[in-house]
Amino acid sequence: MSTIPHLINGERIAGAGRTADVFNPSTGEAIHQVALADRAVIQQAIDAAKAAFPAWRATPPAKRAQVMFRFKQLLEDNAEQIAQLISQEHGKTIEDAGGELKRGIENVEYACGAPELLKGEYNRNVGPDIDGWSDFQPIGVVAGITPFNFPAMVPLWMYPLAIACGNCFILKPSERDPSSTLLIAELMHQAGLPKGVLNVVHGDKEAVDALIEAPQVKALSFVGSTPIAEYIYSEGAKRGKRVQALGGAKNHAVLMPDADLDNAVSALMGAAYGSCGERCMAISVAVCVGDQIADALVAKLVPQIKALKIGAGTRCGLDMGPLVTGAHLDKVTGYVEDGVKAGAELVVDGRGLSVAGNENGFFLGGCLFDRVTPDMRIYQEEIFGPVLCIVRVNSLEEAMALINEHEYGNGTCIFTRDGEAARLFCDEIEVGMVGVNVPLPVPVAYHSFGGWKRSLFGDLHAYGPDGVRFYTRRKSITQRWPQRASHEAAQFAFPSNG
Ligand code: NAD
Repeated sequence: MSTIPHLINGERIAGAGRTADVFNPSTGEAIHQVALADRAVIQQAIDAAKAAFPAWRATPPAKRAQVMFRFKQLLEDNAEQIAQLISQEHGKTIEDAGGELKRGIENVEYACGAPELLKGEYNRNVGPDIDGWSDFQPIGVVAGITPFNFPAMVPLWMYPLAIACGNCFILKPSERDPSSTLLIAELMHQAGLPKGVLNVVHGDKEAVDALIEAPQVKALSFVGSTPIAEYIYSEGAKRGKRVQALGGAKNHAVLMPDADLDNAVSALMGAAYGSCGERCMAISVAVCVGDQIADALVAKLVPQIKALKIGAGTRCGLDMGPLVTGAHLDKVTGYVEDGVKAGAELVVDGRGLSVAGNENGFFLGGCLFDRVTPDMRIYQEEIFGPVLCIVRVNSLEEAMALINEHEYGNGTCIFTRDGEAARLFCDEIEVGMVGVNVPLPVPVAYHSFGGWKRSLFGDLHAYGPDGVRFYTRRKSITQRWPQRASHEAAQFAFPSNG
């Protein structure tokens, strides 16, 4: 079995210490091992990044952008192989893996605009013969820690923009599906990135702690579960680092009585069961306003959930693959058992699914719970599997109160034909990303991505304009070149234009 190496200073580094198994979730077999970095390996990556920083910082943004243009082309040329690797280790369908890569490439396209993005702000004559401007300078060595569910897209949210802004980057991807992430980082080097500007270290808590504690690492971007996001935010901020830590979610879709039901059902099927529910923007709760729409929704969902085409992710034409690991399958199945015990009505039970030819894969069929109430664990906690919960309420106000009281605030959406209801929802919902008749309102690369409440710790959202601000420091410069050399007496009053 091969061991997936680190990538430090442009070289594959085997690593001598601990390793972890990487599975093909469709077969249930361990197919690789991945090296787990210890503190010495992390220090090697930090040293490489630190050494590369002065020259990269001084490289004109237009030249940095040229690397991004070549990188984008290489990603497109290798899209099929990347999608295969994602699908093989994550389990998502090949089409879904291709979609993730395309959304990642959007972020590379945005980073191609580095010269425009890094334009400063300038004022002539802020005082007599004095000009003032703000410059946006790179921070130095920055690190990113990413989750298993988007091994291509989430790293691409981070390092193309960080690097285009002049930083050097250390990426610690998920140890569960690292192959596509590594291949993509190697393509970045093929695109002409100097050695040491991007380093990839695999690992677990030991590697992450070493990054948090290293004084040379000036900023941390994290995407993953809320407990780890909270830990990284507090430990990083305590050490004076800039941190953005995106966490978990429980995304509600509100169905108003006037919704276009057939379109809402199609949207919900994709948003709840796509990628086996392993998306931070997956819809996991449908809040139905009135019993009539709830009954109609259940009637339309049941046959479609039972007809989901489920199999090995790498096969074309499927709706859903397996969950990522056996441990995760057990966790999601545990939630289903818990929901039944708590008294929710399990209308479709996907447990015990066996896929012919892939009997040992980590498969779970789509599950649907009706009459879920807010006191149940299946409502309160993120399940991260193909489990949709229906909650019945009597009014839009009740639906919104439910969402606003939930601890998570990543994404939400409303299905309605009523503009007034939609506008009220957009104005007053306590959630960072909102869709109106759009089930997965993931912002495009030139906006920014982030939730509210316990879905994001930090001030700035990921990628887009917020990403530029996160990966740069503002420096304000005030400069005076007097027209005529003349002596001025000392002034003791605070300088002003008054
Ligand atoms: P995770 O929190 O288990 O792991 C994320 C990263 O943290 C990985 O690189 C992992 O190696 C590392 N890690 C794990 N345990 C750690 C520890 N004790 N100390 C330090 N680092 C540790 O998350 P996951 O299971 O890989 O991904 C799923 C989660 O990510 C879900 O909660 C999902 O909602 C969330 N997610 C959020 C977003 C978002 O944008 N808000 C996007 C994708 C995924």
